[in-house]
Amino acid sequence: MAVNGTGPYDPQNVFARILRGELPCKKVYEDEYALAFHDIAPKAPVHVLVIPKGPFVSFADFSSKGTEAEITGFTRAVGRVARDLNLEAPGYRLLSNVGVAGGQEVPHFHVHLFGGRALGAMLAG
Ligand code: 5GP
Repeated sequence: MAVNGTGPYDPQNVFARILRGELPCKKVYEDEYALAFHDIAPKAPVHVLVIPKGPFVSFADFSSKGTEAEITGFTRAVGRVARDLNLEAPGYRLLSNVGVAGGQEVPHFHVHLFGGRALGAMLAG
């Protein structure tokens, strides 16, 4: 079900629980600012989620409340994950759903990283 992208932050959301180690994930990368792991229901040969470690509901929340260090650290982590997965040369897609119209389902900011095939049209319909 789509969620409100403006909060308040729910510390029981599934990605908060993954960050606390209460739920497992297939980890791809982790540093001080970000955790990257495989999506549980992949929509492409490579479908990785990158999340910041702080309690941000959506891109709207992160871009307005994240510190410079958090924003820089997270952005660099996304780029590094794409590079480490050898997606730079063939190309890849970043996507972040925000709120109800965006179709956001998990209320912890995340970027989808898709790759591994030609990804086709930007939007389904
Ligand atoms: P959203 O629609 O919020 O942008 O996407 C949420 C994504 O999280 C979906 O692609 C969904 O498959 C993924 N997801 C939901 N629950 C879990 C989980 O417990 N583990 C992992 N790895 N991915 C999840």
